Amino acid sequence: MFCNQCEQTERSDAGDGCASTKGACGKDAVTADLQDLLLHAVEGVAQHAWAARQLGVVDQDASRFILYAVFSTLTNVNFDPARIVPLIEQAATVRNRLRDAAAAAARNLGRTPETLTGAANFEPAADQDGMLAQAAGVGVLAGQDVVGADIIGLRALVLFGLKGVCAYAYHAQVLGYERDDIYAGVEQALVFLAGGPTDVEALLEQSLQLGRLNLTVMETLDAANIGTFGIPEPTVVRMTPVRGKAILASGHDLKDLHALLKATAGQGINVYTHGELLPAHAYPTLKAYPHLVGNYGGAWQDQRVEFAQFPGPIVMTSNCIIRPHSSYSERVFTAGPVGWPGLHHLTDDDFAPVVASAHALPGFTDDAPAETVMIGFARNAVLGVADKVVEAVKAGAIRRFFLVGGCDGAASGRNYFTEFAEAVPDDIVVLTLGCGKYRFNRHAFGEIGGIPRLLDLGQCNDSYSAIAIATALAGAFNCGVNELPLTLVISWFEQKAVAVLLTLLALGVRNIRLGPTLPAFLTPNLIGVLVERFGIQPITDAKADIAAALQRQAA
Ligand code: SF4
Ligand code: SF4
Repeated sequence: MFCNQCEQTERSDAGDGCASTKGACGKDAVTADLQDLLLHAVEGVAQHAWAARQLGVVDQDASRFILYAVFSTLTNVNFDPARIVPLIEQAATVRNRLRDAAAAAARNLGRTPETLTGAANFEPAADQDGMLAQAAGVGVLAGQDVVGADIIGLRALVLFGLKGVCAYAYHAQVLGYERDDIYAGVEQALVFLAGGPTDVEALLEQSLQLGRLNLTVMETLDAANIGTFGIPEPTVVRMTPVRGKAILASGHDLKDLHALLKATAGQGINVYTHGELLPAHAYPTLKAYPHLVGNYGGAWQDQRVEFAQFPGPIVMTSNCIIRPHSSYSERVFTAGPVGWPGLHHLTDDDFAPVVASAHALPGFTDDAPAETVMIGFARNAVLGVADKVVEAVKAGAIRRFFLVGGCDGAASGRNYFTEFAEAVPDDIVVLTLGCGKYRFNRHAFGEIGGIPRLLDLGQCNDSYSAIAIATALAGAFNCGVNELPLTLVISWFEQKAVAVLLTLLALGVRNIRLGPTLPAFLTPNLIGVLVERFGIQPITDAKADIAAALQRQAA
């Protein structure tokens, strides 16, 4: 196996990347190799989907399959080879359907059907062992001896950004929000990769093109969430348990949470959010369920301790799952693209097994002392008081905004983000999103003239809110986003963060602080390009970075 797609990848003097029998996340070599092969097969599907498009044939089911298959390869999503093998086989079936439809369309137009090459002609082996043999030579390092490390790094940037795009697009699609230009953009990027690109500028432009596509995707996801569940509103959320039977829902998928709430209504079971589902409490449709009682635990990396202590079943609706401990694995259920060998996988929105498990388990026997956090400051809430915010900035009451957010992880270097948020001077507002917020969201930040100093914008899936707020403020101040009194301090972990970063770069946002480490898949040369063209800076020391940001503002 070789995998270097996330921040947690193994790093050593011999080279960076998880390359032994198991990655740092727990993904084994079999799963990693099969996922490489799945991506190869999906490139072939996209080649045929793209060719069919040119003939006026659009196959939405094929586009949906691509999103699901690619999402299955993100970090901490699917660790189960028994789920990846059928996807590889399905890719060939979908590809054949597209090929036949394109051939028929060509003949109808009096043309000769196009002959595609490479991944387009991939035929999966009959069994897993045969597929593993096929996987040799199709991973991220394929061709490095010929094209060099910089090209491989840029291809990885495109591939990993595309993975994030597919994950976000999947979340919108399951809510019924789909756009053909998104599907065409995803397929175009896969066709680009299937062609084995070697031109640095073309690869950089493709990366930015993905960033622009991701903006459309995030806008669509924002519309999907709001259109389905209402406009998020400032909401106080209980962070401690109450007495009674209990189910914990983790991941990012609001649709699954809604289905779970419907399945448990009137059953005497309390539902808690975990991790990136905390923002669900701010949506009117979801908060209307009285048995959505609060949030339990923090970010994904603490789940082995928190899940062990939770006295009920746990539903993983998307990333980030990690190896379940035997003490609780029997009560973990997966949904959507999530998978772990041996866990019960839910299908067809049937949450009956989860409900039965909740009834059979003890639940919480006592109320814990109440502790709360305030959430729900998505773009509508913040822009609803934009006049007040602009006035506070002009009057000097708010000196600056720091957006401190993104993913969390286990690395000790992530303490930086806690130190940073808590050391921010009192006249600065902190915006946050993603699971990185758990590092400081119980800190008492107070207010500035009635405006909370910590504004939780939501999930990483809600990055569109941050962009909409920055764009609106730039309009109010009649300046560009880079001239705003705003500093972005991004904590990255996996491929959705790569997609968001590409969006920010495509929008021309400069001087982003990125940490806890820079991506291992980028060579020193490529990091040099990002620094030179986009002013990306690695995090250093929290207090020093705050001082540097304020100094830049004063200059
Ligand atoms: S997802 Fe991250 S930790 Fe897991 S194998 Fe890949 S690089 Fe390693
Ligand atoms: S923000 Fe990133 S690290 Fe956190 S749960 Fe979501 S995908 Fe995982």
